[in-house]
Amino acid sequence: MNILLLGSGGREHALAWKLAQSPKLDQFYVIPGNPGIAEHAELIEGIPLSAHDSILKWCLDHFIDFVVVGPEAPLVAGLVDRLEAAGIPAFGPTAAAARLEGSKLFTKELCKANAIPTAAFARFENVAEAAAYVRAEGAPIVVKADGLMAGKGVVVALTVEDAIEAVEQVFAGGGTEVLIEEFMEGEEASLFALVDGETVVAFGSAQDHKRAYDGDLGPNTGGMGAYSPAPVLTPELERRAIEEILIPTARAMARAGTPYRGVLYAGLMLTAEGPKLVEYNCRFGDPECQVLMPRFAGDLVEVLHATATGRLAEVTPRWSADAAMTVVYASRGYPGPHQTGTRISGIKEAAEADGVLVFQAGTRRKGADLVSNGGRVLNVTATGATLGEARERAYAAIARIDWPDGFYRNDIGWRALGARG
Ligand code: ATP
Repeated sequence: MNILLLGSGGREHALAWKLAQSPKLDQFYVIPGNPGIAEHAELIEGIPLSAHDSILKWCLDHFIDFVVVGPEAPLVAGLVDRLEAAGIPAFGPTAAAARLEGSKLFTKELCKANAIPTAAFARFENVAEAAAYVRAEGAPIVVKADGLMAGKGVVVALTVEDAIEAVEQVFAGGGTEVLIEEFMEGEEASLFALVDGETVVAFGSAQDHKRAYDGDLGPNTGGMGAYSPAPVLTPELERRAIEEILIPTARAMARAGTPYRGVLYAGLMLTAEGPKLVEYNCRFGDPECQVLMPRFAGDLVEVLHATATGRLAEVTPRWSADAAMTVVYASRGYPGPHQTGTRISGIKEAAEADGVLVFQAGTRRKGADLVSNGGRVLNVTATGATLGEARERAYAAIARIDWPDGFYRNDIGWRALGARG
């Protein structure tokens, strides 16, 4: 099978590493990729992921049998619709199905109509009504702008005043509506499932750390580290989440004529009443994918292709009993302004240790050197018989990398393991 993978982050490096192990693979290309991905596939330069016409033409010219889409933007913009209309199967939802991530309102209404457990919500088109509702409900309360806001559209307000200020900011920033949600109390975990329109198969769990600094302090980021499985998501809670949240969602999407195909990533709040949906994403998480792939023991080409072509019932994903942890090595200053082009060395030495994999994200080649090229730069990942062992290996490995301009959190996994000794 000739495969094209789209994307350039650590998530795509982990996917490329795993896809490359499949005996089903013939030619393997990635647009645009990064230097780490180049060790597994041929990189194609000069085609932006927003250029759907060019991507389709390139696929037809190169006899591509299957496309795997990493990031959300091309999904929400309808790339899979284009490819499938041309007869090329693609892993990822159509634009209509990707609304589960692209529109919070769409997802909240779907949950309401299908009695899927999630926070109660109300929607407002002006400040006055939203503020009146906030005063009536009291705090803590959650204020959200609709649409893809890259994690910046949500304020968990601890006071009524903060909530009203957040509402005002949504409208001042050009927003036309705001969602106000009940505050859900509990621990968060991510559950991944493959969905082929009808069949829903659990595909691993993880927890991540969104804040930049130790102790979950500092600004929000794309994610500073993750581990899998999520110990808080017991098999019983996972079963409930699949039955009460993911299966009813897949059925509702199919009934509406917009079946969901791809990975459905459920952000869950594990409340006293059971798992509730915080949000859906329509692709693998980054950095969660980097801890799922080292634990997945099956043929990734086979399961992703079966998902895309409605044959998921025919495959049973196999998993290693190991745990995995990834620590993000980011540019100093991230998520704020930071330098790029600074030299990194020691990756090879770090990756030589047992169970260690270094996935690259924002990197590029500069002559013989590898240099930083973004905020999140490396994902130093390790597996182990226990999560504790995975953590020790990941931190021992990251210490072997020489990059004076980078920083990382020292406490990834603290919820599951406590502080590092
Ligand atoms: P991201 O994609 O970065 O997760 P987002 O903009 O899609 O962000 P959400 O995932 O909906 O936003 O919310 C971001 C975070 O805010 C959640 O991970 C959770 O910690 C918190 N949060 C959201 N909704 C609630 C809620 N109803 N109760 C408690 N916490 C919430």
